[in-house]
Amino acid sequence: MGAKNETLADVIVVGGGVIGTAIAYALARQGIACLLLEGGTLGRGASEASAGIVSPPSSSAIPAERLELARRSFQAYPWLVAAVQEDSGLDADYRQWGELLVAETEDEVASLRELAAWQASAGFESEWVDGKAAREIEPLLPEGILGALLADEGGSLVVQRLVRALALAAVKRGARVVERAPVTGFEVEGERASAVRTPQGRYAAGQVVLAAGAWTGQLAGQLGRPLPTFPVKGQMTLVAGGMTMLRHILGRADGAGYLVPRTDGLVWAGSTKERGEWDTRVTPAGIARCLWLVERLAPELLEGELLSTGAGLRPGTPDDEPVIGPLPGYRNVWIAAGHYRTGVQLAPATADLVVQGILSGAPDPLLAPFSPHRFDQAP
Ligand SMILES: Cc1cc2nc3c(=O)[nH]c(=O)nc-3n(C[C@H](O)[C@H](O)[C@H](O)COP(=O)(O)OP(=O)(O)OC[C@H]3O[C@@H](n4cnc5c(N)ncnc54)[C@H](O)[C@@H]3O)c2cc1C
Repeated sequence: MGAKNETLADVIVVGGGVIGTAIAYALARQGIACLLLEGGTLGRGASEASAGIVSPPSSSAIPAERLELARRSFQAYPWLVAAVQEDSGLDADYRQWGELLVAETEDEVASLRELAAWQASAGFESEWVDGKAAREIEPLLPEGILGALLADEGGSLVVQRLVRALALAAVKRGARVVERAPVTGFEVEGERASAVRTPQGRYAAGQVVLAAGAWTGQLAGQLGRPLPTFPVKGQMTLVAGGMTMLRHILGRADGAGYLVPRTDGLVWAGSTKERGEWDTRVTPAGIARCLWLVERLAPELLEGELLSTGAGLRPGTPDDEPVIGPLPGYRNVWIAAGHYRTGVQLAPATADLVVQGILSGAPDPLLAPFSPHRFDQAP
């Protein structure tokens, strides 16, 4: 994994989060020579703090194309984690626990019933269960809840592990991964980014994919085409419940907070949504919010132990939709960023569509609503 000057890669992927590593693995599976450059260490961006939930979309108010991306990714995960484990020897801890979105008010009952019907009509195994049934399914739920949307196949994984596994699997299939190699600039020839620059040296590229999360807009700016990606900070905690084991993913009706079990018995709890915050400080207010979620969803866990806290910067965009497609004005630069709260959910389909687009020379029509063109302000 050491850096060399003047390396020529068919494709350079900038950013080693879940999106960049998924793309590197998808490229490597196609036999395409790929170099992944990560400015820090792999998976230390948004991906590190992520809950890693892979479940049906929690809102019906999304473009049909995003639903299709979510469906493809959802179906791909069991295959993907198995393939990555075979190639890398690393386990991403993927488990289909089932997800319960909990209603505490009549309004929430109405909206979750509607969401359950929409998810079922979209092909997911989702149904409405009353409060008694929900508590039988997950005994840690508090008394007094009115019911829950049960998404039976909803699952989660440990994102940091998936990122490492994807990177290692890509390397096993011929990719190069260089950490601590922040891209600081580009060399441009006409409509092509012909090389990227890092403090260690320059790397010549056939194609370039910018998958640098919240930082992608700034990198595109260095190519004269800034994009409005920005951070949405999320704080989380990890709780040990001792003998009190959570068996399902639990979520608030408004999608604003979750508890997620892990196979080591720990529970991820979070999170906050702080728009425009570039720092990853953990604040008392942020942790208070996480503990409030524990109290609302599984109060017995308050008797456990607070093991660790953390924060990550989700890659946000003005319309909350990802940015996936060729960068306007360039023939060889793709963008894959801005996945906000769904980067894990959408990583497999994003990677496949980026690789197909690079191979075919044109973006799939499914990517139309996510095109960087929608933010293009250049003349
Ligand atoms: C608290 C929290 C909970 C979440 N829960 C979920 C969830 O349950 N399900 C879900 O689907 N999503 C969830 N998300 C969102 C998801 O984690 C993100 O959408 C996803 O991680 C984005 O991945 P990424 O690869 O685009 O960005 P990142 O993970 O941020 O990776 C970008 C990488 O690019 C690198 N980089 C930046 N600039 C440069 C440069 N100049 N040169 C080289 N490298 C550079 C960074 O160091 C970083 O490693 C959550 C996020 C948070 C914070």
